Amino acid sequence: MPELPEVEFAATRLRHAVAGRVIARLEALHPSQQKHLPDAARRAAVGRTIDRVERRAKIQLVHLNDGAILEVHFRMTGDWEFTRVGDEPPRHERVRLETTCGVRVSLVDSRALGVVRLHAPGTFVLPAIGPEPLTDDFTVEGFRTALARRSGPIKPALLDQKLVAGVGNIYASEALWEARIHPATAANTLSRERVTRLRDAIRHVLETAPTERYYGRDDVDENEIWRVYGRDGEPCRRCGASLKRLPQAGRSTFYCPRCQRR
Ligand SMILES: [Zn+2]
Repeated sequence: MPELPEVEFAATRLRHAVAGRVIARLEALHPSQQKHLPDAARRAAVGRTIDRVERRAKIQLVHLNDGAILEVHFRMTGDWEFTRVGDEPPRHERVRLETTCGVRVSLVDSRALGVVRLHAPGTFVLPAIGPEPLTDDFTVEGFRTALARRSGPIKPALLDQKLVAGVGNIYASEALWEARIHPATAANTLSRERVTRLRDAIRHVLETAPTERYYGRDDVDENEIWRVYGRDGEPCRRCGASLKRLPQAGRSTFYCPRCQRR
């Protein structure tokens, strides 16, 4: 599932491909998309210029020059594919946007869970999401206050977008390993020092994410890329202990039982 670094990478590619361009065509090619992008919405977008592409958490926002916004969620398997109008369409194409200069952007999404919605000018409301982890808004004090209200384990808490925006299953495991914090530690028991370490670790794993190598590729060896994610049974890169997998809130967490402490 794409997380913040992958969505940032995708948004940057989209920005380069379409910012300043005029929409010639917008099509919903799959029933799952037709309800989000009805005919009237698709017609309304035609002729509009794409002003800018923004990312908030894992949401991409395509701002049109009349104030309308295309809101994009990749969910599990979504991604952009860029071709030219008239080229062979990519596999699993769900939404197609074409510009008057011949760029074709396709939402490719094998599981078809992604969402593209058009919001009329002035109607878009961003859901309540926490600070962007790579900005100055993500402060130790703010993070600590938010954690103090949570008595559950830290790992599932990190996936809550209201706590911090854009951290998903992979980077939550990676950050906890980096900060040497056991994933089952109650969030509200973390000392100020450990909260600081965790905040720094979240920023570090997101900043150094191997986006281009990993995202959208099936041929990468997870064992090579990640510190703990997908490496249960393998040795910890720090202490050599055998890494473990722990199911938490329906998701797998990977951690080192020796050097990650409660
Ligand atoms: Zn270890």
